[in-house]
Amino acid sequence: MSLPFSLIEAIVGRENFLKSPEELHCYSFDASRMRSVPEGVAFPADAAQISALVKLANTHRFAVYPRGAASGMVGACLPRGGLTIVTNRLNRIVEIDGDNMTATVEPGVITGEFQKAVAQYGLFYPPDPASLAFSTLGGNVAMCSGGPRAVKYGVTRDYLLGLEMVLPTGEIIRTGTRTMKGVVGYDMTRLMVGSEGTLGIFTSILVRLIPAPQSVRTLTAAFPTLESSVEAICAILKARIIPSTIELMDQATLCAVENHLHIGLPVEAEAMVLLEVDGPEIVLEGEAARVEEVCRAAGATRTEAARSEEERSRLWQARRSISPALGRIRPGKLNEDVTVPRTRIPELVRSIRTLAKKHDLTIVCFGHAGDGNIHTNIMFDTQDEGERRRAAKAVEELFGIVLALQGTISGEHGVGIAKSPFIEQEVGKEGLEAMRRIKKALDPLNIMNPGKMFVPDRTFLDG
Ligand SMILES: Cc1cc2nc3c(=O)[nH]c(=O)nc-3n(C[C@H](O)[C@H](O)[C@H](O)COP(=O)(O)OP(=O)(O)OC[C@H]3O[C@@H](n4cnc5c(N)ncnc54)[C@H](O)[C@@H]3O)c2cc1C
Repeated sequence: MSLPFSLIEAIVGRENFLKSPEELHCYSFDASRMRSVPEGVAFPADAAQISALVKLANTHRFAVYPRGAASGMVGACLPRGGLTIVTNRLNRIVEIDGDNMTATVEPGVITGEFQKAVAQYGLFYPPDPASLAFSTLGGNVAMCSGGPRAVKYGVTRDYLLGLEMVLPTGEIIRTGTRTMKGVVGYDMTRLMVGSEGTLGIFTSILVRLIPAPQSVRTLTAAFPTLESSVEAICAILKARIIPSTIELMDQATLCAVENHLHIGLPVEAEAMVLLEVDGPEIVLEGEAARVEEVCRAAGATRTEAARSEEERSRLWQARRSISPALGRIRPGKLNEDVTVPRTRIPELVRSIRTLAKKHDLTIVCFGHAGDGNIHTNIMFDTQDEGERRRAAKAVEELFGIVLALQGTISGEHGVGIAKSPFIEQEVGKEGLEAMRRIKKALDPLNIMNPGKMFVPDRTFLDG
């Protein structure tokens, strides 16, 4: 049904509501290639206004779609008509409690800005999605985002203590506690993290912080075989050193980046690993040397340590340039964030090579090898229908391979619309049914972010 415009304006104010086609167009996308236009976009100021909007949605039976910075990769915030609720006016860092090492933030706060703010207290909020310069903490909680530091520090869920949120029926509840311990009732906070905007809209987020690491050392190691690079990674962890980052680039990635940057990357190597260790200065020198030693013992043909901040940023330059470099291979790519137990990375990459041959496609692998999260980029020509179809088929087969290796079809980006046809493959019929029942119990009218996660909505996928 169409939106009750005047009632929405009465809640948020006319100036905080968009309804013209041109304005709505700007809210019709996220970082996936899908697109769909809302009927209206509201910018509420606080939890009370969000609650009033959601109650109105229940009375008038229209759908609401929470939206942060729209950097999601799976279409999770995309509307299908209905009302998009943007959280960017809820953007205050309410409190940084240095003594208890916690912080309370509103959902529209940008991740990177929050990290800078806590750093002034000598504190650290580790979750580091590559989108941190623009993604919001609300979006991070909804997608349980994480990045290269996950291997040592974990992901968003590991720092989340509690939430204030508006339920799909409009009531405001609080979950979790300010304490590190707390076992009263169901762990609603844990249920909400990764709920992709389907179970509620977060209006306040309570996180724990940790002391900032004193220092960091960065190095790269090139390996003749992919197996030897993974062997080195496992050996480092076995030596009880947990690097803060272990990033892997396969040969296809190295060649693409080298063609793009011409910085002397070891293109003859089958894999290059970028490693960082962090912690107290006094132990770092020894740890970095030990990591180098382990890499060499596993067969590394070349290792290079950064001796200054400039050198560090040069070593990272290759990693940061992967996306633009891949654009030179093919204009289109399906970037799948599959994840397997790290010892199974070689099997995964071998299977991917077979898949590439079978479908006559270029598939490029890189990613967070420390936690087994390998970004698998299936390249295709957007103008070539046959190649597009083969790429889509390869994705389906890739998911089968990953699950057979005891992995997951998404380590970072979530389900949204893009992966909803495959969710049952991973969680099983009964598992999916249990999730559906939770959704139905909290959102009986299916008001909040419908068409995501459970129901593959082909109109988005084929559009
Ligand atoms: C260049 C790039 C790099 C990326 N790198 C990474 C990475 O390294 N790791 C990673 O995990 N992800 C990564 N992502 C994906 C994306 O940035 C994350 O999923 C991020 O957390 C989304 O935040 P957002 O504010 O943009 O949310 P949106 O995209 O706006 O929304 C995402 C989901 O969150 C819901 N949502 C938003 N706000 C709220 C709220 N207040 N309450 C309830 N639900 C809400 C929406 O309904 C939607 O379901 C990357 C994306 C890009 C474009």
